[in-house]
Amino acid sequence: MSHSRDQPFNHISDLPNIFTTYRKSVEPLRNCPRESQPRPNQLPPLPPELPPQAGPFMIPNTLEDLKSALLKPFADDSSFGLPEPPSWPAGTLSAHPFTGGETAAQERLSHLISSGAMTRYKATRNGMLGLDFSTKLSAYLNIGNLTARQIHWAMFNFEEGRGEGENAEGYGRAETEGTAAVRFELLWRDYMRLCTRKYGNKLFDVHGFRSRENEQNPKLPNSTNLPASQSQNTTSGPSKKHWAYLDQNTRPIFTRFCAGRTGASLIDASNRELILTGYTSNRARQNVASFLSSHLGLDWRLGAEWYEFLLIDYDVSNNWGNWQYVAGVGNDPRLGRTFNPVKQALDYDPKGEYVRAWLPELRGVKLVKDKFNGSKGDKDTKGVSETEEIDENKLLGLYQPWSLPEEEKVKLGLKGLDWVDKPLVKIPFSVGGRGRGRGNGEWRGRGRGRGRFRGRAKGSGRGTAP
Ligand SMILES: Cc1cc2nc3c(=O)[nH]c(=O)nc-3n(C[C@H](O)[C@H](O)[C@H](O)COP(=O)(O)OP(=O)(O)OC[C@H]3O[C@@H](n4cnc5c(N)ncnc54)[C@H](O)[C@@H]3O)c2cc1C
Repeated sequence: MSHSRDQPFNHISDLPNIFTTYRKSVEPLRNCPRESQPRPNQLPPLPPELPPQAGPFMIPNTLEDLKSALLKPFADDSSFGLPEPPSWPAGTLSAHPFTGGETAAQERLSHLISSGAMTRYKATRNGMLGLDFSTKLSAYLNIGNLTARQIHWAMFNFEEGRGEGENAEGYGRAETEGTAAVRFELLWRDYMRLCTRKYGNKLFDVHGFRSRENEQNPKLPNSTNLPASQSQNTTSGPSKKHWAYLDQNTRPIFTRFCAGRTGASLIDASNRELILTGYTSNRARQNVASFLSSHLGLDWRLGAEWYEFLLIDYDVSNNWGNWQYVAGVGNDPRLGRTFNPVKQALDYDPKGEYVRAWLPELRGVKLVKDKFNGSKGDKDTKGVSETEEIDENKLLGLYQPWSLPEEEKVKLGLKGLDWVDKPLVKIPFSVGGRGRGRGNGEWRGRGRGRGRFRGRAKGSGRGTAP
């Protein structure tokens, strides 16, 4: 959003290590961005002669040929080497069905402004299902179809009551909570880039940006589950190849993680969504990264590389910087924050809609309080109606299907599924007294079966988490 020459420090080494400190140094964000560059009148001419392409590569001549060349790896192996890849669940729609290009990017921006989605953004941004809970501008930004300045100025005009969106809430009323929150997130994007510039290759270091301090910290992730060739630094090539390097204990765990078969439903729903659509929400990403690094105790870079391979909005700084942050080796002042995916599901998927959308095997799990069951037909397979009350204890079975009653597992045909019979991790959690004292917990310990929750939950993501 802000220009690299407009930073409040002379040298990149002076970039604050804490986002909030940096943010305060550049606020008010609404005053930050420079004018957008004008649209060029013409493109620079092509070079007079294009050398012929040497085999085996071919330059496609049409858009269709280009698309099929790009998609060839998917067509050749859409399983990505997974023995049990997910397939598209009936009735579920992608949260990211957009096509690329500048025109599509401008249309999306225009839709967000004129539909009021920008104004509502602060309240909806933690959603996981649907088209408009967040802007879905990341891929356009990262590919270069759109700039953060263009987003800022479109919102600015809206706030000033100029241009489109006159029927949307917030038009002409200066900065709204929603537009301010979008600027806040775009500043995270700037900050991740600046961190990359400051720390260079440490972006890929298992010990993160603060590698020297972190090496001394026994609580932080280690690279013992990777062989030396992988644990040195950085990453290489698509995941399918690097699975060959994983040791015998790690490989089956990581494979089940990738395929969405861990047994923690929020994580599995997100990873299946990712593999099928190339997108998953920020809320889900935070949970997935925390699950891999803290609950499974794996090297966070495995997850970062899997994301790099699949994300439609992949961006080197945002991806690796966020993975570091959640894994507790990045620039998070609250190092080692850990998300409880059961509590997070209860908070952000309180009707189980997201889990049911991507884990069709669980659509028959009964959620409605017993007094409603049987009285209104089998509503559970379609969701929960407005008048029905959800039993939170039953929701816990949806979020961790190993904990469902045996007879329900048999009835739903769940017996024999690895992720139901043998979850990679069982997360202790109980519902205590109608929404309070839900056993909020901080995960202690690393690796399978060694953790336990205690105290209040860290990582609710409501503080300064991106
Ligand atoms: C483990 C993990 C991996 C991630 N990998 C990527 C990645 O490869 N590419 C990527 O663009 N984002 C990444 N993010 C950040 C964030 O999840 C996505 O930018 C966001 O979900 C994209 O959807 P959106 O455009 O609807 O976001 P919105 O919520 O609408 O946010 C608006 C814009 O702000 C920026 N933004 C939002 N959240 C963040 C954040 N946490 N860090 C930096 N910028 C942010 C993005 O440019 C986004 O388009 C990652 C987050 C996590 C936790």
